[in-house]
Amino acid sequence: MLGAIEAGGTKFVCAVGDMDYNIVDLIEIPTTSPIETMEKVKEFFIQYNIQSLGIGSFGPADINPSSPNYGCITNTPKEQWKHFNIISFMKSTFNVPIVFDTDVNVAALGEAKFGASRNVNSSIYVTIGTGIGVGAVINGEILQGISHPEMGHIFVRRHEKDHFAGCCPYHKDCLEGLASGPAIEKRWGKKAVLLENNKEVWEIEGYYIAQALMTYILILSPEKIILGGGVMKQRQLITIIYEYLKRLNNGYMSFSQLEENISDYIVTPELEGLSAIKGAFYLSKNNLYGNTELLSNLG
Ligand code: ADP
Ligand code: ZN
Repeated sequence: MLGAIEAGGTKFVCAVGDMDYNIVDLIEIPTTSPIETMEKVKEFFIQYNIQSLGIGSFGPADINPSSPNYGCITNTPKEQWKHFNIISFMKSTFNVPIVFDTDVNVAALGEAKFGASRNVNSSIYVTIGTGIGVGAVINGEILQGISHPEMGHIFVRRHEKDHFAGCCPYHKDCLEGLASGPAIEKRWGKKAVLLENNKEVWEIEGYYIAQALMTYILILSPEKIILGGGVMKQRQLITIIYEYLKRLNNGYMSFSQLEENISDYIVTPELEGLSAIKGAFYLSKNNLYGNTELLSNLG
C-alpha cells in the first residue's frame, strides 16, 4: 500500500491507497503542535502496512533530498513547526522510503498525472488561499531549482483604487500580500466568503491574479493553468481573471488559449480536494519502484 500526507497549515490529510492510486482510507487531523498532530498521523498509518510514503507539506520547506535538513519546514510563522523535520519523525516508526515536497508542487503533480492537466506536457497549479503558491510540472517532473519556486511572492502593479498596504511579512505588497485570503480580509475588514456580493472586491482580486498569470505565461508558457484554493470558490472570479488577462496580453501572444479558448486553458482542479493526495501517492509509488529497480539491478 501507498501512504500520502498533505501537511497543511490548518489541517493534515493522511491517506492510504492501493498501487492503482485508489484511496483505501483517509483522515483529516487539525494542525496544532507538531507532537500532537504527528502522533495522530502515526496512529493512523500504523494500522496499515504501507510500503512507501509521499508527503506534500506547507512551506517554505527543505525539499532537496541531498540536504541534511531534507524534510524540514523552514521559515514558517508557525513557531513550533520551525525546523521540525517530518521525515525524521516518520522514519522513527516507519522504515519505508519517504519522499517530501511542497503541498502545491504535489498538487500540481496530482493534476498533471490524473487531473485537469493530464493531457499536456507542461502545467502550473496556483493555489490562492491562506497563502499563494504555485507548482510547475514540466515533462512530468516538478520544476525545482535551488529551492522550490516561490511564484506567490512576485510583484504586481497596484490597482488604482487599492490603498491597502499589503500583508506579506517579508514584502508587504507582493502578490500574496495583496491577493491571498487574509489580504482580502484585512483590506475589507470582513471574511472573504462574506464579500461575495461586493463587486469591487473581486475586480481588484481578479486584476492581481491576472497580472500574476500573465507573468507566469510569459516566463514558463505552460500548456495548462489550474487555479485552486479557498478564494477560487468565488465562481465569478475566474471570468474577471479571463477579461483582465486578455486585456493585459493585448493580442501580443496570439494563441487561442488567450482568446476564445481561455476557459479551457485556465481551469479549476479536477480532483476535488484530492490533487495533493493523488500527487503524493504518485511520488510515493515512483520512489518505491525507483528503489526496487535499483535493488534488482544490484542483483
Ligand atoms: P489553506 O490555504 O489554509 O490550505 P484554503 O485554500 O481553504 O486553505 O484557503 C483559506 C483561505 O481561503 C481563507 O483566507 C479563506 O478566507 C478563503 N476562503 C475560503 N473559502 C472561501 C470562499 N468560499 N470565498 C472566498 N474566500 C474563501
Ligand atoms: Zn511576499
